[in-house]
Amino acid sequence: NYRCRSAFKLLEIDDKHKVLRPGLSVIDCGAAPGAWSQVAVQRVNALGTDPNAPVGFVLGVDLLRISPLEGAVFLPNADITDPVTLKKIQELLPTERADVILSDMAPNATGIRELDHQKLINLCLTLLDLSQSILRPRGTILCKFWDGREAHLLQNRLMEHFQDVRTIKPQSSRKESAEIYYLAKLYNDGVKHQKL
Ligand code: SAM
Repeated sequence: NYRCRSAFKLLEIDDKHKVLRPGLSVIDCGAAPGAWSQVAVQRVNALGTDPNAPVGFVLGVDLLRISPLEGAVFLPNADITDPVTLKKIQELLPTERADVILSDMAPNATGIRELDHQKLINLCLTLLDLSQSILRPRGTILCKFWDGREAHLLQNRLMEHFQDVRTIKPQSSRKESAEIYYLAKLYNDGVKHQKL
């Protein structure tokens, strides 16, 4: 039982693109009510359910409070754009850096499409700043955005820092929605244009 139907989007993306696997350490940004974290807990084996696989870790961060979930650590009342949040994330991470940053964040929609688009792109750009401190080399970002004129800015920034950047539109995303995801793999730790 998932807390929200958004779980099926992450399941679909992960089945196809293999973002999560046992043992990985994941930060789930915009985690409330917690459906993506539920999926992540299962897929990284955060509860040690599979005794033969490595045990992963899931940290969910949100402006809102999130009901407790076995296998996940939550950082509620936390704004991802606030430097204090970065400090707290670093304190809570068992390893120095995470393997995967997930973001299903969405700002409160104003209904003005262009403005909402810009706000979400800016939130996603924040993830790139965070990555410098908390994403391990060769790590992954999966982030949702609403399509619009500034999407290419985000895509370009991702391409500067990741070797493999894909655009994903899951089937389970309603057809009419402008919701798209970037999947950026192989983080090169701020080293631009370097062939690893
Ligand atoms: N992935 C979640 C799930 O499966 O349960 C659903 C996420 S919901 C679509 C978007 C979330 O992003 C909201 O809970 C919202 O509070 C959060 N959010 C928006 N701006 C944020 C910010 N600046 N920092 C942290 N969380 C934020």
